Amino acid sequence: MSDSTAAETRRFDAEVHQLLKLMINALYSNREIFLRELISNASDASDKLRFEALTRDELKGKDQDLDIEISFDTAAGRLVVADRGIGMNRAEVVENLGTIARSGTRRFLESLSGDARKDARLIGQFGVGFYSAFIVAAEVEVETRRADEAPAAGVRWRSTGEGEYSIEDIEREPQGTTITLTLREEHRDLLSRWQLERIIRHYSNHVAFPIRLIEVGKEAEDGDKDEDAPAGQQIINDTQALWARARNELEDEDYKSFYNGLTGDPEAPVSWAHHHVEGSQSYSLLLYLPAQAPFDLLINRDEREGLKLYIQRVFIMDAAEQLLPRYLRFMRGVVDSADLPLNVSREILQDSPLLKKIRATVIKRSLDLIEKLAGEGGEAWSKFWKAFGSILKEGVIEDFEQRERIASILRFASTHAEDAESVSLDDYIGRMTEGQDAIWYLTADSVKVARSSPHLEAFKRHNIEVLLLTDRIDEWLVSHLDQFKDKPLKSVSQGKLNLAGDSPEPGEDARLLAGRIKKALGDTVGNVRPGNRLTDSPGCIVADEGGMSLQMEKLLRQAGQAVPETKPDLEINAEHPLLTAMNQLDDGKRFDDLSHLLFDQARLAEGGELADPAAYVARVNRLLIEALQPSSSSAAEDNSRDGSNAASA
Ligand code: ADP
Repeated sequence: MSDSTAAETRRFDAEVHQLLKLMINALYSNREIFLRELISNASDASDKLRFEALTRDELKGKDQDLDIEISFDTAAGRLVVADRGIGMNRAEVVENLGTIARSGTRRFLESLSGDARKDARLIGQFGVGFYSAFIVAAEVEVETRRADEAPAAGVRWRSTGEGEYSIEDIEREPQGTTITLTLREEHRDLLSRWQLERIIRHYSNHVAFPIRLIEVGKEAEDGDKDEDAPAGQQIINDTQALWARARNELEDEDYKSFYNGLTGDPEAPVSWAHHHVEGSQSYSLLLYLPAQAPFDLLINRDEREGLKLYIQRVFIMDAAEQLLPRYLRFMRGVVDSADLPLNVSREILQDSPLLKKIRATVIKRSLDLIEKLAGEGGEAWSKFWKAFGSILKEGVIEDFEQRERIASILRFASTHAEDAESVSLDDYIGRMTEGQDAIWYLTADSVKVARSSPHLEAFKRHNIEVLLLTDRIDEWLVSHLDQFKDKPLKSVSQGKLNLAGDSPEPGEDARLLAGRIKKALGDTVGNVRPGNRLTDSPGCIVADEGGMSLQMEKLLRQAGQAVPETKPDLEINAEHPLLTAMNQLDDGKRFDDLSHLLFDQARLAEGGELADPAAYVARVNRLLIEALQPSSSSAAEDNSRDGSNAASA
């Protein structure tokens, strides 16, 4: 096989040597990508042969059972990548390997400018081509023969990447190309089964041809491992690019096991969508809805591993950033474009109109999947909702275009449903009572606190449903979702409440009492006014229409943010026995205490925080003592003097 004729040594293009050095430096920390490049070339060559065999009789049969063989010899420090693809003749070898004018390396180097040079991660994503072999190899030998020529038409190319290469004709029996790398000492750690398997799986798992890994010298020993494979060989990759196959060829099981391999999530996905899009651009899209959240998903809003971008079945990069909005960051899957250039960079992707279109489809299809699951309800939906509901809500805030669609998927707890978070906005609208003009909600820390809120009293009386929002993000959600299907969303605790049928104007007596309470409370409160909200409770806090709710204040404070000084209003229920009793009292210490208690109670009932808990406790105690010593009310007034400073805010 090694009879050689017409051996000659040629120099690379003048610039090649320097450029090679530059690339080797830039890619040193991403050395593993050389294997991706060689496998990708082998896969391309096999694809080309397949394609040509479609129309050329002399190639018929030569395109059967193509594979890519990777063998390593630890003792010799050698790694061999062999394909049985189209191969090259002498002129092609000179053209393709003797110059970098048209290789991926050139495009890579051209793109290396300014900051890109520093961005090692970016560099790792490039298709840099054949020359990347020199990142790890001291010498590269290529033996090749075109599949449509005779064995005598073989060619051997050899180089150390130092400025020249040798080329000679050889007799070569097998069609296709064998590339032998003699690794430099410091890269020989790559020559182990687990390293190579790992690298192949990571970058080339979905190459459409079987990749076999062979350890030289071990061929016979572990032959019983895999009965179908020849001795010592194992197929490393998932030979079929599953997403590229027709849907009717695939079983549920295929989709599931592919998902497990893709994500590392051992559970089955909830559902998936698989599309082949053809038209002004062609791509395949396989999207999965996972059943469970990876543990850091909520905390890490920058999780960007979800969606893999392939170009013609070659893995290019994790491109969730370009293809998924944050609120869909739990989605998983693959996009495989037929139109994007293989050496695409993140920068290029960022403003690619092709990609923008794909992204729009990804969003639409993802929401289709989620919507369908929501419609089916049941265990799968509630599990999904628990895991990802809060994240999805971010979409209402971030994606104006999809706001209404996302909003209609959301589910909430409600005064009219026993189950946790089962009511949609559409359900709600369907149950609105005659004359009801708004979607009412209440925000609180928990459903339990919400259900016993005094704010619900009027709504109970009128049998009006109230959504109970208890997720941290809900406050932000409703501040962005001011209406749904033309119905305004309104907080039960904000502004003036006038439900149909309630008497609109309070009596003179009630207004006077409110004025006295305001005087007692002074600057701690905004307004005090009689209202229709309450039946069982004496008072409740009401935020300004459009002002900040107590719940929002609390969230901001917990998040360590400055909370603007706000003075909530106090609504009183003038018919309540406490208020009618207060109305009998003269102004004075006792009326003062009761006014403060009324206000503090109202805050507590909403799960709010007291401005001065110690003063509150002192007041309660004073009143308890009075209650226990009914005859000595004047003594109680005296005793209370020392504690009263704390009460003035
Ligand atoms: P690119 O693949 O981006 O064109 P490369 O530097 O990787 O750049 O390869 C240059 C050319 O060499 C390829 O376009 C192809 O024509 C040829 N080539 C490389 N590897 C093989 C192979 N295994 N079989 C056939 N041709 C190959």
